Amino acid sequence: MAKGKINVSVENIFPLIKKFLYSDHEIFLRELISNATDATLKLKHLTAIGEAKVDYGNPQIEIRIDKEGKKIHITDQGLGMTSDEVEKYINQVAFSGAEEFLDKYKDAGKDAGIIGHFGLGFYSAFMVAHTVEIITKSFKDEPAAHWTCDGSPNFTLEAADKKDRGTEIILHIAEDSVEFLEESKISGLLSKYNKFMPVPIVFGTKTETLPKPEGAKEEDPAPTQEVQNIINNPNPAWTKAPADLNDEDYKGFYRELYPMQFEEPLFHIHLNVDYPFNLTGILYFPKLTNDLNVQKDKIQLYQNQVFVTDNVEGIVPEFLTMLRGVIDSPDIPLNVSRSYLQADGAVKKIATYITKKVGDKLSSLFKNDRAAFEEKWNDIKIVIEYGMLSEDKFFDKADKFALYPTVDGSYFTFEELQEKLKDNQTDKDGKLILLYASDKESQHAYIAAAKAKGYEVLLLDSPIVSHLMQKLETSKEKISFARVDADPIDKLIQKEENAISKLSDEEKESLKEKIEKVTGEGGLTVQLEAMDSDSAPFVITEPEFMRRMKEMQQTGGGGGMFGMGSMPDMHNLIVNINHPLVSEILQTKTQKKQDRLISQSIDLAKLSKGLLKGAALSDFISRSYEMIK
Ligand code: ADP
Ligand code: MG
Repeated sequence: MAKGKINVSVENIFPLIKKFLYSDHEIFLRELISNATDATLKLKHLTAIGEAKVDYGNPQIEIRIDKEGKKIHITDQGLGMTSDEVEKYINQVAFSGAEEFLDKYKDAGKDAGIIGHFGLGFYSAFMVAHTVEIITKSFKDEPAAHWTCDGSPNFTLEAADKKDRGTEIILHIAEDSVEFLEESKISGLLSKYNKFMPVPIVFGTKTETLPKPEGAKEEDPAPTQEVQNIINNPNPAWTKAPADLNDEDYKGFYRELYPMQFEEPLFHIHLNVDYPFNLTGILYFPKLTNDLNVQKDKIQLYQNQVFVTDNVEGIVPEFLTMLRGVIDSPDIPLNVSRSYLQADGAVKKIATYITKKVGDKLSSLFKNDRAAFEEKWNDIKIVIEYGMLSEDKFFDKADKFALYPTVDGSYFTFEELQEKLKDNQTDKDGKLILLYASDKESQHAYIAAAKAKGYEVLLLDSPIVSHLMQKLETSKEKISFARVDADPIDKLIQKEENAISKLSDEEKESLKEKIEKVTGEGGLTVQLEAMDSDSAPFVITEPEFMRRMKEMQQTGGGGGMFGMGSMPDMHNLIVNINHPLVSEILQTKTQKKQDRLISQSIDLAKLSKGLLKGAALSDFISRSYEMIK
């Protein structure tokens, strides 16, 4: 057996690091600013504990473009490096000075907010630069150092005469990356990645208007001055304690996050844990529409105030990806694939925590101000319904505050509904029948029929509510949802045995034949029913089961029960044989007149279901004019 050590040659590895370490070349700026921030925060910590006896001052990080010289300068006033430290930290690829620092100052690690991790960030500079220079002066009393590397593994290191503390990184931008010499490109990157970093970042200058001097004339222009343009807010709201923020602060931060968004958020949830994982953030509930897909990818993920991504899939539970806001956690392993991420224990705990916090917040809003909660219900229901469907723990919590509005604008919880309807709206087996409509206008006739019988009709119109009904029917006992047009009301809530039929079997047979002759191949299934004489004579229904399965299939899930193909619409024509009109039809002697009565009745039934269209509608209208003429 042979044993040995694999020999990795730097010459081979270096170009690989340069080209493939990060798929996105633009992150070089984020990495270098992160290093500058780390250098500044390290110094802050060392001065605070008395290990660095220098004045910390008000350090900044400056980004400067030298378009003519094709260079970008990144300058900080952090702790700097001695010549030896450059050897140690820069010349050793994949040795992280950040990790070493965190090891050494363990107890302070978390508070210091150090960003670096893998000791590779610095080399991302070579993705855009052919040559990189470091000019650095340590806070220690040692001469400055000047390191230069042209992208090959060869470097030079010599003394420099830099006097002030800190580090300047000079990138000599490569021909294929000159886009990064554009001011607009850099300011775009800064506002994407560095908007909330903890050390002030200066990029260029801006013109500030000063107050007019005393005695200035109306027409005199106000004086101006050029000031440094600080592009970031080093103390974003999520890093503060909830107790130090009021409603306005939260709304203000929302505008900072989404400057193009004019609608205010409905409410916020401040996240703040440090055990067993570290996570802060603020989530906002925006007004949501019924379109599930357009509203994703609005939550931004940060690590120590550095923007990482706005794809939080796998970290935030799916149903909450419709929310907005920020999450900041150094504990999310981002160097792994998304599917691995979902299996990661810490990430699972994070998702569970976020779900719980959202549930608690909704629950307290419901308890503390029910009226306000009801007012917001239609704008937030989609998230809650989605959550109830996808997370059982959330279902248990939300079941107590999820609302079921009626067509008349009252809101009930499920328990309240059960209590309110238990005496009136049960069928002969004691099963609670929850009647609902999905559209007040088009189902008006059916809603009216249900209300005429004294029943309560819910208005359930979100695109996933059919899935929720399915879930409720299986998790609660003796309840059933039925849309008002699923069957005639008397059949939906059947209190007693059928009314006695007034027709003989032969009469029924011949009536059915006559009606079927008129409906033809119109796709209506004729069904004779003996109902109360005051129930509608002709009514078109759409059985609950088929329709709901179809809806569920359209909005995902449903188990694919019916295979792929789309299911046809299924409509029944219910004829109430106890209605006086039906007797009249039967007694009509002339065939022509009888057919006319039947087709007019069917058209009226179609009309009230919104099914009368095209030529059939035109015919109906001219026929009706004939009649009243
Ligand atoms: P990491 O940040 O993960 O430690 P990097 O490759 O980004 O890895 O940086 C390597 C090391 O180089 C840092 O840990 C730090 O010690 C040193 N370094 C890089 N940039 C600076 C800087 N601007 N000031 C001081 N030290 C720096
Ligand atoms: Mg780094």
